[in-house]
Amino acid sequence: MNTKIISTVEKYRAKMEQILDYMEHNAEAGFKEWKGNALMLEAYRELGFKPVEAGNIPGFYADLDTGRPGPKILVFSELDGLPVPGHPNADPETNVAHACGHNAQCAALYGCAAALKEMDLSALSGSIRFCIVPAEEMNYLEFREDLREKGIIKYITGKQEYLARGYFDDCDMCFMVHTGGGRHKFSAKPFQNGGIIKSIEFRGKACHAAAPSGGINALYAANMYFNAINALRETFISKDCVRVHPIITHGGNAVNAIPDRILVENQVRANNVQALKTVNAKVNRAAAASAAAIGARVELHDIPGYAPGHYDSRLAHYMMDAMGEIVGAENCKWYEGLTEVGCTDMGDMSQVMPTVTAFCGGGAGTGHGVDYHIADFDSACMDSAAAQALILYRLLENGAAKAKDVLENAKPNFASYKEYMDYLDSMFIKKQAVEYLENGETLLK
Ligand SMILES: [Zn+2]
Ligand SMILES: [Zn+2]
Repeated sequence: MNTKIISTVEKYRAKMEQILDYMEHNAEAGFKEWKGNALMLEAYRELGFKPVEAGNIPGFYADLDTGRPGPKILVFSELDGLPVPGHPNADPETNVAHACGHNAQCAALYGCAAALKEMDLSALSGSIRFCIVPAEEMNYLEFREDLREKGIIKYITGKQEYLARGYFDDCDMCFMVHTGGGRHKFSAKPFQNGGIIKSIEFRGKACHAAAPSGGINALYAANMYFNAINALRETFISKDCVRVHPIITHGGNAVNAIPDRILVENQVRANNVQALKTVNAKVNRAAAASAAAIGARVELHDIPGYAPGHYDSRLAHYMMDAMGEIVGAENCKWYEGLTEVGCTDMGDMSQVMPTVTAFCGGGAGTGHGVDYHIADFDSACMDSAAAQALILYRLLENGAAKAKDVLENAKPNFASYKEYMDYLDSMFIKKQAVEYLENGETLLK
């Protein structure tokens, strides 16, 4: 079957090259990927798929049904680039470039879908949902907040939003092969960090810096916040892979005035939901206490970013077996016990269904950097397409025995995606964290 799949994918090489190249030179940021969306829609329609479009945001899904009952497997490719000023193929106006290889993902998943669409699937049961999803990268948050305020989206990443819209209601498990590089042609790790995006506004009272006694220095409150976070670091547990990395984005107006407004942006990351919640609560308490220490105010604004990835090892092993049939088992690696420190909204998927994010070779240069490029088309696109097609084939053959085995042993953190959405909703915070009561007491909230 592997040679049959490889030769079928090969027929679509030219189209896959065209997709990669077009997207490379027409990179678009998250929730703005209308050119990429149009290209992929047309490509899937040409294959005979009937895509279901999201409509008011980019992206779509298209189903391939074997006609026999069984699990539905969801596979992704992502549409968005990210701002990388100086990247040779960046859009001259927006600076957005494909510096994470999502264009190769789109080409590869197209090759996979094209091959399976024309192959004889009479030995398979169940169905496949190909989903071309927007907005994986976390950037231009003001634009996304604006979409949220207009009611166009409810959540800030593509997969979260699609999940909330019910596009994956009938899907049983999912995977994605992300473009990468490194020693192995295919690899995956069981854990991936998730994060919370934080804006913190400290408010004090301005006055002349030469006569500061009547002022409240918001910069000092921010300083205490940074120091408090550093004092908390020794309480972080190594295996949780916690990262807290604040920056100041507005540090004062004039050197001869006591600063009354300081803006801090921060992220809290960890590889499991419980650690994320615990550390975030400590970091928020640090902000409130730092402001309260000198009579300042602080507004906290938290947005749930990606959830931590908690990937399914059984599904991963079946994937590695199939990938090994394409490129040799010695070129495939499941890094038992390790955490991928970058984040993705595949983590959100992993909270509600068996999920794996794997990486293929072919990318070169620094991820998200000016020199990132697809150096090896065969690894990034051809091998990835063939491997994904064979993974789907192996999961769904013999009455979908392997897919059913994954499902029977799966233990997602949340029982339903609705429960998960409730959790996500609970992570949105917008509040004044210090209240000064008339009786002179101070309340931290
Ligand atoms: Zn990326
Ligand atoms: Zn990426």
